[in-house]
Amino acid sequence: MKKRVATVWLGGCSGCHMSLLDIDEGLLEIAPLMDLVKSPLVDGKEFPENVDVAVVEGCVSTDQDREQILKIRERSKVLVALGDCAVTGNVTALRNLLGPAAMLDQAYRKAPTNDGQGTVPSVEIPTLLPQASPLSRHVKVDVYVPGCPPPADLIFTALKALLEGRPLEIPAGALKNG
Ligand code: SF4
Repeated sequence: MKKRVATVWLGGCSGCHMSLLDIDEGLLEIAPLMDLVKSPLVDGKEFPENVDVAVVEGCVSTDQDREQILKIRERSKVLVALGDCAVTGNVTALRNLLGPAAMLDQAYRKAPTNDGQGTVPSVEIPTLLPQASPLSRHVKVDVYVPGCPPPADLIFTALKALLEGRPLEIPAGALKNG
């Protein structure tokens, strides 16, 4: 029976999703094993119920991210942290060195490419949490797929094992960048 799979992009750069697409022809091998019920790659706004495997890129950086990850956990049997931002905070969590207000000031006013007159947006955007943090700080994570981004081969190995209901065995040398 096909597994219901969702992929989600929280506080990340989408590089992990690009690496997922880099599986190339392997996608044809795993596609028959799943129904993609939610993803940035397809339409659909609401995270659905009864998801078998949720693959989450990026850390929890905003109030919306936090709301989402709680809902994802509640509605998914297996939650996969995809990439170092989801696993440790990584690049996104570098903002923790400054704090939200100073970081926004830097990005919108003080960056060398700005004219110093910029306005920090405040309407209809998610509120930054005081710290960006990995998924495991908020919910139980079942599978970690590290890397920035995780290599396509590793994502393929992990997804195939999960879709076939096998234990995940990470091949030697798989944990390298790119
Ligand atoms: S782990 Fe690397 S590639 Fe993935 S979202 Fe973070 S910065 Fe981007």
